[in-house]
Amino acid sequence: MQLLDGKKLSEEILNEIALEVAQLKSNGMKVPHLAAILVGNDGASETYVASKVRNCERVGFESTLIRLDGTITENELLANIEELNVNPFIDGFIVQLPLPKHIDDKKITEAIAPEKDVDGFHPMNIGKMVLGLPTYLPATPNGVMEMLKRYHIETEGKNCVVLGRSNIVGSPMANLMFRNTNPGNATVTICHSKTKDLKSITQQADILIVAIGKPEFVTADMVKSGAVVVDVGIHRLTDATKKSGFKLVGDVKFDEVAPKTSYITPVPGGVGLMTICSLLQNTLLACKNNKN
Ligand code: NAP
Repeated sequence: MQLLDGKKLSEEILNEIALEVAQLKSNGMKVPHLAAILVGNDGASETYVASKVRNCERVGFESTLIRLDGTITENELLANIEELNVNPFIDGFIVQLPLPKHIDDKKITEAIAPEKDVDGFHPMNIGKMVLGLPTYLPATPNGVMEMLKRYHIETEGKNCVVLGRSNIVGSPMANLMFRNTNPGNATVTICHSKTKDLKSITQQADILIVAIGKPEFVTADMVKSGAVVVDVGIHRLTDATKKSGFKLVGDVKFDEVAPKTSYITPVPGGVGLMTICSLLQNTLLACKNNKN
């Protein structure tokens, strides 16, 4: 078993981005500027956004964090988005999900100008992805693809099972895996909450990508010997032995599944860090595309 080490890979990618930013600067050009909107004070979202801002600093990007109260109305949030859409100094921005229940995620996603949608969630960017046109690919699935590529994992003709069909992870993940690209060209099965006899399907997977949102759901008996397992899940479980009071686990029961695999991502230190790299790569691209 070999770890798919997101920490090591993300260091490599962040260094590459930093080098490009240094070149932009030395050519007298603008450096990329990413903005993030954080609504409310959900602990996990705070951590993710802080990490995004920290990594912007690390690669030499400018960043702006806009904190909005959890009681903000949908219209007020839309007004904030419109300001960022027309601000020529902002190359790309994200609205950290999940949003409070009274705000419609779809409306918010659709309000972001597609050319600034560095999370790659806007319907226009998803449509371009499906058609194989150049676009901002959704950050998490694209981070997984980058990981498979950099570890030279053969995907062509392999049976890939994706657990989960969300708009931000499972569905685009499946799409990228079956596209005629390298990595890609896998034969993909997508599973969801209505799938019958899940275990018999996951056991066929040469590559199992899990984005189900259930802590340690995938157990050793669900995994074929020698499979590549990518765990997208991330959960905070209460743990009194930790100083923070919690531990992070994925959607896969790592300790029992890992010995059966050829490659597996750890949590933390796996896909999460790759997601941030993709976001920064998309922002760099948005900056290069920004004609303002
Ligand atoms: P989500 O929107 O809750 O989607 C979960 C998917 O899993 C749904 O399609 C659901 O099916 C399916 N599912 C749930 N229970 C199932 C079951 N018992 N059997 C089969 N399928 C089942 O979650 P998400 O946004 O895709 O996120 C998935 C996980 O990834 C979460 O742990 C999240 O925190 C994590 N995540 C991590 C990153 C990162 O950067 N590492 C980024 C995003 C998300 P239905 O469609 O039928 O409901």
